[in-house]
Amino acid sequence: MHEMGIAQELVKIALDALPEDLENPQVASLHLKIGKLSSVVPHSLTFCFEIITKDTPLENARLEIETIPVRIRCTGCGREWETDTPVFRCPDCEQGQIQMLSGREVEIVSLELME
Ligand SMILES: [Zn+2]
Repeated sequence: MHEMGIAQELVKIALDALPEDLENPQVASLHLKIGKLSSVVPHSLTFCFEIITKDTPLENARLEIETIPVRIRCTGCGREWETDTPVFRCPDCEQGQIQMLSGREVEIVSLELME
């Protein structure tokens, strides 16, 4: 389950982002962007997150996961499109020289502290 590694990485980034002058900060929610091709299962990620954030400022923080579609650009004709399937061939010029613009990211967009 590679979600555990990803969850650990996200928790580390989130903890580093907390203001140092705050006493007992508590995170209310964490907004994530997860690309469809990152092969992260949101349910598994949430599960791992809950385990490793116990007794940290992130304990009980709500995970808000936004799924990012896969966007492809053809380097031949410049056409851009979204896809759900890993078939990367331009529907216009049918060449296979493509660039992936989004779809693999796993990142923290924002973090909300408890009042
Ligand atoms: Zn093309």
